[in-house]
Amino acid sequence: GLSTESYCRRHEITIVGDNVPPPYTSFESTGFPSEILREVQSAGFPSPTPIQAQSWPIALQGRDIVAIAKTGSGKTLGYLLPGFIHLKRSRNNPQLGPTVLVLSPTRELATQIQAEAVKFGKSSRISCTCLYGGAPKGPQLRDIDRGIDIVVATPGRLNDILEMRRISLQQVAYLVLDEADRMLDMGFEPQIRKIVKEVPARRQTLMFTATWPKEVRKIAADLLVNPVQVNIGNVD
Ligand code: ADP
Ligand code: MG
Repeated sequence: GLSTESYCRRHEITIVGDNVPPPYTSFESTGFPSEILREVQSAGFPSPTPIQAQSWPIALQGRDIVAIAKTGSGKTLGYLLPGFIHLKRSRNNPQLGPTVLVLSPTRELATQIQAEAVKFGKSSRISCTCLYGGAPKGPQLRDIDRGIDIVVATPGRLNDILEMRRISLQQVAYLVLDEADRMLDMGFEPQIRKIVKEVPARRQTLMFTATWPKEVRKIAADLLVNPVQVNIGNVD
């Protein structure tokens, strides 16, 4: 309707996709469970950011998304909160592997994502761990063995652990490629492709990127199924 159009125009949102649901312009309209809304309120956030407003309803429909938006636009909660909903609905046993998998280019970013997942997932009793290189594997393997709902990983370390056969991705139902352009710039494409081969084809895949060059388009075309494309701001 008109309000969707004016919201999108005001926030420079452009969408490529069919039957896209209207944005959630307030937290209340998301229908998120109260324990999640409580965490968002206590963080003091006034309203969803444009990428959240437009990604959440699409993600909650179970559709694949490519979101192109600059740093600082709130992408982390944009994919984490629908991931939480996935977890609440799933009957997976975390000891058999994670249900949500987030790939991130660096240890620093992976740690920030984990911190956000822990903060906003605390009252939902969601567990999250981080797997990255340059640190001993022992504690990371122990976390995996203990059972974890969400794994945030750099592609190199996750691939090492997969080759050791110390993690199963057979339960992953919600896969996020965060900062996809940066992961490709860092040369992680072969690892990403190996990892995705271990994830069931029946899954939801979300890709977040700041830029949209042809290498990113190619991997999106290979790994996502009929994604809705959400652009925030001016994209080349
Ligand atoms: P991006 O991944 O797009 O770079 P982040 O997810 O790291 O952005 O979010 C940037 C900052 O904005 C973080 O400090 C985050 O906690 C905060 N933030 C997230 N959502 C909101 C919101 N709806 N309102 C205000 N701040 C938010
Ligand atoms: Mg980010």
